[in-house]
Amino acid sequence: MKIQDHKIELKGMTLEKLREYLESIGEKKFRGNQIFNWMYNNLAMEFDEMQNIPKPLRDKLQSETTLKTLELKTSKSSNNTGTVKYVFSTYDDRNIETVLIPDGERNTLCISTQVGCPLDCKFCATGLMGYKRNLSTGEIVDQYFLSAKANPKTSITNIVYMGMGEPLLNFERTLESLDIFTHELNKVVGRNRITVSTSGIPQRIIDLAESGYRVKMALSLHSCFEDIRSRIMPINNKYSLSDNLDALKQYVRISKTKITFEYTMLKGINDRKEDAEALAKICKDIPSKVNVIPFNSIAHMSPGGISAELEPTSKSGILDFVEELRNRNVRVMVRETQGDDIAAACGQLAVN
Ligand code: SAH
Ligand code: SF4
Repeated sequence: MKIQDHKIELKGMTLEKLREYLESIGEKKFRGNQIFNWMYNNLAMEFDEMQNIPKPLRDKLQSETTLKTLELKTSKSSNNTGTVKYVFSTYDDRNIETVLIPDGERNTLCISTQVGCPLDCKFCATGLMGYKRNLSTGEIVDQYFLSAKANPKTSITNIVYMGMGEPLLNFERTLESLDIFTHELNKVVGRNRITVSTSGIPQRIIDLAESGYRVKMALSLHSCFEDIRSRIMPINNKYSLSDNLDALKQYVRISKTKITFEYTMLKGINDRKEDAEALAKICKDIPSKVNVIPFNSIAHMSPGGISAELEPTSKSGILDFVEELRNRNVRVMVRETQGDDIAAACGQLAVN
């Protein structure tokens, strides 16, 4: 799919931008509300579906703007869990991945914000593939709308920004996508069912709090010791854990939500007793819960260096670690590995 360069991406505009755009082409602002409703509630794919928009305006929009952001290329279902991985292609022939994870009543959609990621975390397939570009707002939100359209019988209840890329490095568009998802005219999920996950950029964490969307925030923690964290997450050399924890305290204060700490279990690196103690100490300081994630193999990326040496903590090792935490009154969830048979589990997303 190619989008003509001169066409404006209408899908991805917030209500405010739509209203401004329509006014700028000599139309009434309320047309913006109608188009918002068509794109984001009725999942319209063509201008001719927009029946309360006069034909001349539809034609004008057709020639100057586009509703096409992504195209669904393939979907693959996991045999054992019902997890579905979608590959979407962009107008410039990049591929990105979105994962739908059913879990009882809950259907969580894991969306991407960048093609690849520049942050090079040593355990992450997306990091290993390198960084290509930021996604547009339309490309971020359309992962939800196109997945909803592909699954008319499944209602998506939660959205997590845990796919490819670092959302806080594509900050403006991440904010615009939150604006669209949480808008009162919209029937997408509520703000308390949206989680933005970050490897930790303190100023952006504070900016997100001040933006007022009050979504949930997750920090990819993975080690409570600065030196170890820097080894597996080079970004920690630039933005220390300590500065991130200070920012998270502000996030809690302003947004009045608890933090989720994501903790991928790496044998011998972050699964020792002293790691559990340090983690419990952080959790005492910050209203939070811990998501323990089994390390998913990144062997499909044939990594070198430290990445090649990483090994998962054994199942019993994970249980011991969790018990250490629970004995210290930490709220812990162990995330089931979902969809590793289709390389759709956490940290396995990477496409050429
Ligand atoms: N860039 C953001 C969001 C995407 S990563 C972030 O880093 O938070 C989503 C989650 O998957 C993060 O917690 C990340 O640390 C985790 N993850 C990455 N690689 C993984 C792997 N191989 N196994 C398990 N979890 C992994
Ligand atoms: Fe990027 Fe997140 Fe992967 Fe790190 S874990 S490389 S920040 S996507």
